Amino acid sequence: MLTENLTVAGHSVSPLHYINGQRVASSPRFDLHSPIDQSLLGQVCEGGAEQVQAAIAAAQNAFPAWSALTAVERKPYLDRFTFEIGQRAEAFCQLESTDAGVLLSRMAHGVVPRAMLNISWFAEHALTLQDRPIETEQATHLVRHDPAGVVVIITPWNAPLMLATWKLGPALAAGNTVIVKPPEWAPLTSSLLADCAHAAGLPPGVFNIVQGSGANTGAKLVSDPRLARVSFTGSVPTAKWIAQAAGANLVPCSLELGGKSPFIVLQDADIDNAAATGALMYRNAGQVCLAGTRFLVHSQVRDAFVAAMRGYVDKLKVGDPRDAATEVGPIIHPRQVERVQGFVECALADGAELLWGGAPHPFGAQYYQPTMLTNLRQDSEIVQNEVFGPVLTLQTFDSDEELVAMANGTDYGLGGVCYGEVAHATAIAQQVRTGFIWVNSFGIRDLAAPFGGIKRSGVGREGGDWSFEFFCDIKDVVVPKKPFRASFSQR
Ligand code: NAD
Repeated sequence: MLTENLTVAGHSVSPLHYINGQRVASSPRFDLHSPIDQSLLGQVCEGGAEQVQAAIAAAQNAFPAWSALTAVERKPYLDRFTFEIGQRAEAFCQLESTDAGVLLSRMAHGVVPRAMLNISWFAEHALTLQDRPIETEQATHLVRHDPAGVVVIITPWNAPLMLATWKLGPALAAGNTVIVKPPEWAPLTSSLLADCAHAAGLPPGVFNIVQGSGANTGAKLVSDPRLARVSFTGSVPTAKWIAQAAGANLVPCSLELGGKSPFIVLQDADIDNAAATGALMYRNAGQVCLAGTRFLVHSQVRDAFVAAMRGYVDKLKVGDPRDAATEVGPIIHPRQVERVQGFVECALADGAELLWGGAPHPFGAQYYQPTMLTNLRQDSEIVQNEVFGPVLTLQTFDSDEELVAMANGTDYGLGGVCYGEVAHATAIAQQVRTGFIWVNSFGIRDLAAPFGGIKRSGVGREGGDWSFEFFCDIKDVVVPKKPFRASFSQR
């Protein structure tokens, strides 16, 4: 294999594409910087038309043999893939902490184990798919989940390893061949996944990586008529572009997008518990799609809640994500820091008040203070739009009706959090228009459960059977139970 690896945080990683089982170089290349200290990590290849064409051709060529295997026959490949991720756990942790700024502790205890499960769980779940006939008096309907073809997977920078594997697991287990286009601000762990696929013996062309920017490489990939599916996680503007490009060829898209999820505190909530969870919304410097970023707090408990949450926020340690004590790391890119600061300045100019934060953090150029704004109109920019940084808003309500209207008063509908007496909180949760919502908790996930957003937060669901429904061509093979004789009088 062609090697001209970068050494990042002591680990070797390829800046090249991975196409048809081989590392492929191309020019130009783009600079990759660490959000921790802006240091230059190296240069990564930018895929052009040639690499995009080669990857699609490789995936097409590999499809007949890979799709002809049964789920039972594919499983050992995916189990070896999982094993190879585990073998490189330390490298995955260091690389994503360095290029995306994710806490090293979170990588080790959360992301890498989950990435492994994303492959192994779907490989196992695929075994259950072909054995679900629908029996009626007339016939047996053999419902088949057939592989769809060449799948393009496009991921964002805030969770590149978790999201690549979350899509790869079911796409490969279903018998598709795959091309991943990693995020240009954090491409390294996706590249390491190619090493895992190679070591696991996945046949050439089954799994491909084309590195590069969205506007160039990504746009070329999703516009190709030979694709069977596009699975995208990222922002709303990009999703609209991708949906149009793929839609022009009637290629189905799954779109997992941004959020502006409510964090509700009812008057009967356990205030201290709610406040402790509230502080968690600053995790990954607020760069988490499913975070509850709009605090809606009953006016009678507002002061108690603000005081309790401030107590937790004051203790948060902002700093280097590789330091075990750090709880809030850097913002991914200087452009994103400017965006966050711009949101805060516009809100303040519009009459908002700061409860805490509101300025860059002295730790470094790409660090920002955990911030909370209040005194906001429902139609103000910061209440309506995703900041994707450590900036939260707080509004109060006096009745459940007012609360539900505020909770549903944005174009987003990804997640939500609702703290209160269980029956009350559950009743409110049922009225919030969103893809999922946690009652008196946050972040509980299961791979079998559906995940996705409504309104501008997405199209489609991932997880469990829903992932396979998207990545498969579902077919009904109808076998009659009694001899069938054609007749024009038949109903
Ligand atoms: P983004 O939309 O800018 O980029 C996402 C990916 O799309 C990148 O790989 C980028 O290169 C690519 N891309 C950009 N333009 C493209 C084009 N024209 N054609 C094809 N590909 C293109 O998003 P981002 O800033 O990287 O990520 C942050 C966003 O992702 C936030 O809105 C966040 O809420 C969302 N997100 C959603 C979820 C979820 O599950 N719903 C999870 C994580 C992040």
